[in-house]
Amino acid sequence: MGDCKHICCGAAEKVWLPYEFEGRSRGLKPHSYCILCGIVKDTSSESKKAKGMGYYMDILARLELTKVQIRLIAKELEGVKFGDANFMTRRQQERLFIRALKKYSSVREDRIRAFL
Ligand SMILES: [Zn+2]
Repeated sequence: MGDCKHICCGAAEKVWLPYEFEGRSRGLKPHSYCILCGIVKDTSSESKKAKGMGYYMDILARLELTKVQIRLIAKELEGVKFGDANFMTRRQQERLFIRALKKYSSVREDRIRAFL
């Protein structure tokens, strides 16, 4: 599934699924899904749109990491389709970004969050 190019089903074919907003169930809502692998787009945090890879690369530069660390983190993020705004929410990105940073650096989470 990591190799999937994710093709959106389009507006007409959405599936109705339960959704949550601010931690509470809000009934059913049409969800987009990928016609290739079936992954459903997370709509719970639509207010915070996913950012492009460049946004996070800027943060890495400002955290004063070594080039090797930046390369390892970037490689990890590219492997999970991090920059794909169609299937990644901002919240998911932040979680993955922090996880990758912790894996390859000793930057503390509160310091990372200050940049997000
Ligand atoms: Zn897919």
